Amino acid sequence: MNWENNVRRVVPYTPGEQPKDSGISKLNTNENPYPPSPAVKSVLDSYDDAKMRLYPDTNSTVLVDALAKRYNVNPSQIFVGVGSDDVISMAFLTFFNSEKPVLFPDVTYSFYDVWADVYRIPYETKALDDNFRIRAEDYICENGGIIFPNPNAPTGVFESLDMIEEIIKANPDSVVIIDEAYIDFGGESCIPLVDKYENLLVVQTFSKSRSMAGMRIGFAVGNEKLIKYMNDVKFSINSYTMNPLSQICGAEAVNDEEYFRETTGRIIETREYTKKKLTELGFTYPDSMSNFIFASHNSVDAVVIFEELKKRKIFVRYWNKPRINNHLRITIGTREEMDKLITALEEIVKKG
Ligand code: PMP
Repeated sequence: MNWENNVRRVVPYTPGEQPKDSGISKLNTNENPYPPSPAVKSVLDSYDDAKMRLYPDTNSTVLVDALAKRYNVNPSQIFVGVGSDDVISMAFLTFFNSEKPVLFPDVTYSFYDVWADVYRIPYETKALDDNFRIRAEDYICENGGIIFPNPNAPTGVFESLDMIEEIIKANPDSVVIIDEAYIDFGGESCIPLVDKYENLLVVQTFSKSRSMAGMRIGFAVGNEKLIKYMNDVKFSINSYTMNPLSQICGAEAVNDEEYFRETTGRIIETREYTKKKLTELGFTYPDSMSNFIFASHNSVDAVVIFEELKKRKIFVRYWNKPRINNHLRITIGTREEMDKLITALEEIVKKG
């Protein structure tokens, strides 16, 4: 009875809560408060369900072509996957295959160390500075690969392309992955750098700026060789990952640039409004270029605020982890949701 000795044991990633109650404000998993492009709805309405008999296009051609056009690259430079979690996981498996440690920040997306563990990849974290900034010099050393989000999560801090280019240039022997899950809320994408650096892979998602977290669509843009290596690994595991509806709905969403600009613009506006209100209430936060704010109050503990908000059916994200256990990550919802949050916070911090 020793089969358990052979189990690949892992501590899984803990996703944010998905409460089922009605009437809650869900500001805890950085979802978009607006529906996807109306073009997505019309595709769904006219979809012929008889097509479900068939396996999907393994190359997701309609989606890859739409992305290639939108981002001005060749289709051979795009890899698509079932959410960017799937894309990043495939990238870890494909590129982080050395005895040297993979590097990422100490405060960052908490899935990176989970993938490293499940694939038995050695890693080392590099401390952000006191203002939650990445220090480029920390990444100029021997390593087996580099990954960080830009803007970083859960801080929302955006780093300049000059700084990122410095890291890519200094690491020609490693693949550098920039996770741009939140890039569409005011940051500048590294995608234009992929033709300059063959070791750069940029990952994005439809879950935030395109309001399609439930459809599970993510993609990577890079040099043709990188993408070929990723596809070789993917096709060695499961060729049919992305369902046909996600492929066509994803393409429709990419083609509706006007709606994309309008909704991301609205979120940016609401974020700037929320920043002002939070400052008035005694909160501080690193300046966010994402669809969330990472805030700490000058007198009331984050965990107290977290619990009090929950009682009022407002869910935000809290981590009891070193360096960030007095911060809350608050997703930007609609203006109405943020006003409700501000009213609740007023009550809580005045009482606290
Ligand atoms: N990267 C970062 C930094 C994230 O915060 C998230 C969302 N949890 C993801 C990747 C994954 O998002 P998805 O799989 O929905 O594309």
